Amino acid sequence: MRVAVLSDVHANLVALDAVLAAVGTVDAVWHLGDVVGYGPDPDGVVDRLAAIGAVGVSGNHDLAALGGREIDWFNPDAKAAMEWTRGRINDVSRAWLSALPTTHREGDLTLVHGSPRDPVWEYITSVPVARANLAALETPFGLHGHTHLPMAWADRDGRIDPISPGPGSTFKLDGRPVLLNPGSVGQPRDGDPSASWLEVDTDAGLATWRRASYDIEAVRTAMLEAGLPGRLADRLRAGL
Ligand code: ZN
Repeated sequence: MRVAVLSDVHANLVALDAVLAAVGTVDAVWHLGDVVGYGPDPDGVVDRLAAIGAVGVSGNHDLAALGGREIDWFNPDAKAAMEWTRGRINDVSRAWLSALPTTHREGDLTLVHGSPRDPVWEYITSVPVARANLAALETPFGLHGHTHLPMAWADRDGRIDPISPGPGSTFKLDGRPVLLNPGSVGQPRDGDPSASWLEVDTDAGLATWRRASYDIEAVRTAMLEAGLPGRLADRLRAGL
């Protein structure tokens, strides 16, 4: 089965559509949360993911959009964008986001936004945190987002290898535990402004990181016209 794994789309429909065009025909699309927040088109992104039958989990921004207290932890720009999002999303989006679990399993893979042991909030950014979460995994492999950084944390017989993959990098799923982060579709933070995602071939046991360029200026303009914070619009250009 060939699967496209998307995370942190963040209401960026232009980036999502560029990714879906590059993905082509797949057997499934899985998402790892933060569908909304930051970007200018939350309903459009939910509508597109619902239309293609994407399955996935909720992130901290999705829960905040539904009125959750997660917003209390947001920085001022994120909070301003979330207040805009809350006032904007329609009932259909609200219902779709409400139905998302925080953890979802697909065969050998566990899908979460943050981490297996703290699926909404924890950032996996260090070897000790990765080690604890590899131990907490109840399936051989884990998929997570939240950091907006393409990454793999591989257990090599007790040693944890952090791997920063470039576009086209592959990782062989050989049965040993690993946590894979596809990077972010809608707000990459690894210095490459193009949209990032992960292609997984479950039969071949192969994961491949991919990038797609999109019309960043169109999204910037839409954000500024919507009254979203300028710093959030500008960071799309730098991919930081
Ligand atoms: Zn995010």
